[in-house]
Amino acid sequence: KGELFTEAHDVMKRLMAEGYQAYMVGGCVRDSLLGRPINDVDIATSALPEQVLSLFPRVVPTGLQHGTVTVVMPTNTYEVTTFRKESAYEGHRRPEEVEFIGDLDEDLMRRDFTINAMAIDADGELHDPFGGEADLEQRLIRCVGDAEQRFREDALRMLRCVRFAAILSGRIAKSTWRALCHEKSTLVFVAMERVRDELWKLTAGADPARGWALLLRSGLLQHTKEQLGALASTESTRWQPLLCALGRVTSPELRLALLLLGHEVDEGEAKRIALALRLSGAQQDAVLGVLRAEARLAAGGNAALAAAAVPGGAQAWRRPFAQALFAYGEDALRGWLACRSALAGVGAAGEPAAAVQPFLQHGQAWLEDIPVRRLQDIALTGSDLLQAAERVAGPWLGHSLEAAWLAVALQEVPNEREALLKYAVKEWKER
Ligand code: ATP
Ligand code: MG
Repeated sequence: KGELFTEAHDVMKRLMAEGYQAYMVGGCVRDSLLGRPINDVDIATSALPEQVLSLFPRVVPTGLQHGTVTVVMPTNTYEVTTFRKESAYEGHRRPEEVEFIGDLDEDLMRRDFTINAMAIDADGELHDPFGGEADLEQRLIRCVGDAEQRFREDALRMLRCVRFAAILSGRIAKSTWRALCHEKSTLVFVAMERVRDELWKLTAGADPARGWALLLRSGLLQHTKEQLGALASTESTRWQPLLCALGRVTSPELRLALLLLGHEVDEGEAKRIALALRLSGAQQDAVLGVLRAEARLAAGGNAALAAAAVPGGAQAWRRPFAQALFAYGEDALRGWLACRSALAGVGAAGEPAAAVQPFLQHGQAWLEDIPVRRLQDIALTGSDLLQAAERVAGPWLGHSLEAAWLAVALQEVPNEREALLKYAVKEWKER
């Protein structure tokens, strides 16, 4: 994204033409030194927010009390923030009020880690007062200044520390780690939405196992405002195989589902954890869908998985499998297969891997071939059935449609209207 920097440059030039200082700062500096893709460029300036507002034709006063103005350029937007320091921290959170200052270095000093406390000026020169570049080369996460004090000021930084270690596959500096372990109980002051954002980025990143291993080792998650249950457990023998399996599924939703599955969390408790974590509706559906499929297919040593392990039972799994597909949808079933395969692949969750894996492979293959995926895919509608049955609508209708759908999915009846009508009418008469 060439324009991202060209336009950032234009913003800086405009500020500098008026005699203000302007730098690119924070995450974009870190990621560009790493050669990683950059989503947004943040700019720090000595100009006051009102001055920034008056200099650009299209501006949004996004966070004036924090000194942030969004400048809208033709293809990108930029957060332009006045140099500031955050003196009065209260309740282990970042302050509502900040003090504007005139000096870049002091602005960099309030930032959390050395790798996040660098700036690049309009000539492309790096300003790095805390040795961030060297730390970045070593993938070392180190607080700017006294780590204990920095974590005490804003407890979220502890979670950010683990997050950066995870996404960089990095290490945490000894003094920073010690401070984190010492201050961890102050995480209780942080809003769950902020916890979620960091946990989500950590889980979505390239090395989620690293992040979760550090969470486990520190015990940090035992101190969230709302309890995270099994996710905060420190029972490391249980965690070890799960950490190995974690990178074998790709989305953060499935990774979370995998951890819950591996800890044998039931659906009710999973729901509670999802709510505590303030997951969105879509995120909840994705996670809980997997746990629902688990309850239908594998929990309590029941049905499908067990049947698949018995000689001659190879076909027995098809019906519960199809029922789960009907009830929870294709995404849930695919997600469940992915999580179970990942767990079986590392011999986790007490699975006799050898017995389960062929079943999972069958399931996967079956899902590719299945003639129908949703109720709308069968050649029979509710009104067809109502007419033919000469009966008023009621719960029977849904049951019969489901039975017809299952018969097609299991290839017991061809997906043709006449055949299905006959089957469905017979089915409800016999019921
Ligand atoms: P990401 O790739 O997730 O956006 P980022 O480093 O840009 O990573 P942001 O939350 O966007 O993270 O913050 C931008 C910058 O603001 C950081 O690089 C850091 O310098 C500073 N910063 C953010 N949060 C804190 C905090 N809690 N304490 C101190 N400095 C912070
Ligand atoms: Mg950022």
